[in-house]
Amino acid sequence: MNRHDTRLCALTFDLDDTLWDNQGVMARAEQLHYAWLDEQLAAWLAAHGEAPRHFAEAVPVTRYQAHRRHLAKQHPLRRGDFTWIRERALVELLEEFGLSRASAWLWASLTMTRFHALRLEVSPYPEAEPLLEALTRDYRLGAITNGNLAFHRLALSRHFEVIIAAGEMPAPKPDARPFLATLSRLGATPARALHVGDSWQEDILPAIRLGMRAAWIAPHAPADTPMPRGAYRLEHVRELPDLLERMERE
Ligand SMILES: [Mg+2]
Repeated sequence: MNRHDTRLCALTFDLDDTLWDNQGVMARAEQLHYAWLDEQLAAWLAAHGEAPRHFAEAVPVTRYQAHRRHLAKQHPLRRGDFTWIRERALVELLEEFGLSRASAWLWASLTMTRFHALRLEVSPYPEAEPLLEALTRDYRLGAITNGNLAFHRLALSRHFEVIIAAGEMPAPKPDARPFLATLSRLGATPARALHVGDSWQEDILPAIRLGMRAAWIAPHAPADTPMPRGAYRLEHVRELPDLLERMERE
């Protein structure tokens, strides 16, 4: 390979708020998995002859959220591993609620299964499927997410040769490691790769620092936002093919 070859051969994608709008999904998953635990656990306690008690009344969801923040501070290396933090918080709060350690683990694990199912209820932008399908003809694709959704269970994931859950490495973006791991598995140098993402801090800056090019999905940023060399602003991922064509002509 020519060392000075800068033709793009690999594209890496952020997922949440890049290929779908994630706002409503997280809020819904947060509320509904906790409500599920509250209801199912009350029924289980009643079936075991205990006085009916409601977990979400004793431990409001705000307490669960505060405990997750506390655990993230206590375990800085795991701070991006949201599944680990959620499950651990649930186990500790369920034990505090009076469950044995074994029952606490069982209920935390069942609740996380529910959470992951809800977390997957994303609606990719309608353009995403044909867009990725077309891109695989010219580029190798990788996904790098800080989120904890089981992306491989979505049909869209079949277009990606590499899927990295950076928070579970554990090296959440903007750490360079998930980018380097993805590029090495795609057989691409940074100079021959472009990263697509919506976060300036977690997607664009680290990609540019590594010498990749970057497409920033920023519908609300002013059109005249100054961009570093190699970075481009898009309003929506559907504009990516036009950008790639322009870059080929440059
Ligand atoms: Mg994102």
